[in-house]
Amino acid sequence: MPSSRPRVFRPTPANLARLAALLRRGGLVGVPAETVYGLAADALNPAACAAIFTAKGRPTTDPLIVHLATARDLPTVAVTNAAVAPLAQAFWPGPLTLVLPKQACIPELITAGRPTVAVRVPGHPLFRKLIRLAGRPLAAPSANPFGYISPTCAAHVRDGLAGTALRAVLDGGDCAVGVESTILDLTDPARPRLLRPGGIAVEAIERVLGRPVLRPKAPRLAVTTAAPAPGMLAQHYSPRTPLRLHPRLDAAALAVLPADEAALLLRKPTRLPCPADARAGRILWLSETGADNEIARHLFARLRALDTGGWRRLHAEIPAGSEGLIPAIRDRLQRAAARA
Ligand code: AMP
Ligand code: MG
Repeated sequence: MPSSRPRVFRPTPANLARLAALLRRGGLVGVPAETVYGLAADALNPAACAAIFTAKGRPTTDPLIVHLATARDLPTVAVTNAAVAPLAQAFWPGPLTLVLPKQACIPELITAGRPTVAVRVPGHPLFRKLIRLAGRPLAAPSANPFGYISPTCAAHVRDGLAGTALRAVLDGGDCAVGVESTILDLTDPARPRLLRPGGIAVEAIERVLGRPVLRPKAPRLAVTTAAPAPGMLAQHYSPRTPLRLHPRLDAAALAVLPADEAALLLRKPTRLPCPADARAGRILWLSETGADNEIARHLFARLRALDTGGWRRLHAEIPAGSEGLIPAIRDRLQRAAARA
């Protein structure tokens, strides 16, 4: 039903003004971020925020991140503390979300009834421009149906949220980071806690804070709908095709892959048993060099390409290690492969 798909807008000044006006009227807009595309609404308008949950099919127990154009606006939505300024200085604009005590203006729906709010200043300049033009903070989760692979270009949003209340998507190109923000609970500045690994490495946060960040123990893969930290469900970011993870898929493993199954490698192989498989889209890779930022940037789009390829089963390599963006990549792959 192409007619029910939202329209994709180029980022002209006239279109930005039009989309900002739509946000001020309580409408939804698909927005580009450096992480993944967001589904934005006026964070101070509960009805507009309610429409986000409906369009995504997202449970209202899962709180939303509030986005600001500048760190100077932080005190209007959250209560800050001494640990905030150095982190904001080092990582904003960028993919770090801070959880802090909320101000009264933030609707309950955004925080799922909690006394805290998650806030960040996004790195994508068009997102910040839209916030500025709208003149209010914007609440935005990823712009995909709840639980499905996150969107990293405007077409993913247009196709994924067709038939919902979303009528407009701002095209800001492909997402440069490609995984969601790192979420840090700073409610107690003496005990910073990692809630979700993401686009900023935890070691970099620890260097700025000069103290260790508490991390969740093992990846939380227990299947539950009462998520330990909201949004940390075992199954998420998932393709519809069953996905199996492997520490390594070498030439020998690829040679015995059944003809109706496809594989996603971490880096370009030096040798493929059948080079036609790459041309046919049966074997894809996430990077030329194995660099974590390149893998993260391509992860969701390549997973989506395989998911829509009509394969019976998907296989993906999962990276080892705990540095840089590797924990975020591992987290997304593990949740994508989990079955509730
Ligand atoms: P996203 O789906 O990328 O919009 O992520 C939003 C996530 O931020 C939620 O799923 C939670 O994990 C986290 N979050 C948002 N608000 C809070 C909060 N007040 N306390 C703890 N985590 C939060
Ligand atoms: Mg999401």
